[in-house]
Amino acid sequence: MIFFLFSGLILTATNTVYATNLDASSNVVDAPITDGPYVSISNSQLNYHYICQDKVLEDKRTISTLPHRFAACGLLADIPSLALRTDLLEYHGDFKVAALSDLHGQYDLMITLLVNNGIISAQGNWTFGKGHFVITGDVFDRGDKVTEILWFLYRLEQQAVKAGGKVHLLLGNHEVMVLNGDLRYLHPKYVKAAKLLETEFAELFSKTTVLGQWLRSKSVLVKINNALYAHGGFHPELAQKNHSLQEINSVFKKHLIKAELPKPREGLARFLHKSNGPIWYRGYFKDDGATSEEIDLLLNHFDIEHLIVGHTSQNNIETRYQGKVIAIDSSIKKGEYGELLFIEGKKLTRGTLSGEHLLLN
Ligand code: ZN
Repeated sequence: MIFFLFSGLILTATNTVYATNLDASSNVVDAPITDGPYVSISNSQLNYHYICQDKVLEDKRTISTLPHRFAACGLLADIPSLALRTDLLEYHGDFKVAALSDLHGQYDLMITLLVNNGIISAQGNWTFGKGHFVITGDVFDRGDKVTEILWFLYRLEQQAVKAGGKVHLLLGNHEVMVLNGDLRYLHPKYVKAAKLLETEFAELFSKTTVLGQWLRSKSVLVKINNALYAHGGFHPELAQKNHSLQEINSVFKKHLIKAELPKPREGLARFLHKSNGPIWYRGYFKDDGATSEEIDLLLNHFDIEHLIVGHTSQNNIETRYQGKVIAIDSSIKKGEYGELLFIEGKKLTRGTLSGEHLLLN
């Protein structure tokens, strides 16, 4: 669905008008919705709930019959097993890397971008071989095909591993917001979905759900060869105070969900979840942000040549600090255009929507 944004109103292609009130609970989608499945785990069973044209439907299957393929009402989910992989924080090797960021529910645009750039086939299957594909967060919010992207990445991750490659989905601020019940940016479709399913939206991603467990297993950063990836970025203080990648990731993850903590976040945990932490930081894009010396300090401390971040939107993939920082949020959220970053050895290119590879300046 194509949206045109005007002051305070969203006009859909069918001309339905929704108020974009930030109090999402007041939003209603009039057109019938299709969404899901949301799969919860109880004892020996997986409970599938999904919405087909506003109708809530249910399916139950026993865990012992895994792998499951769910396909109904145009929705698809492949669950091979409930085992979660422990992702490493560092990878080194002679393979291609592709990265993109801030999908924000733009499933169709993402598919076009991945097909045209050789990450997947026209049928949606992994064709990137032993390559590593990084998504630096913010799958959630704004757009109306978030669930589709999550199940797609869930399946792609399995296919990549089988081919000797890897999908790295990193946490962005919008993943952490939704997991914490901060639903300010939810598309009205999901407000309606939660209502139809008679639950709180965040409960659909609780720790007793397949996608909730999967999201909780994800890291906030990954280092691949000479580049370090995160959604927002790394504040220079993390280098000055000598924090390691392992420490940053584990403290961040241990304090991921406020409601699941015995006491409020403090010290490093609080710093990492506030505006200077890895999912919120914008200091590479501000006049009073990080200095060139501070960027060098970060590169030196983490033993890398590039910091690769999303979160702060650009028109294209762009560089800052003579290429030391690469900004990969190419404004996919607008639903019109997007780019992928490619790294092959020392060669850095931008993969455009039509699949052209342009040298990064
Ligand atoms: Zn963000």
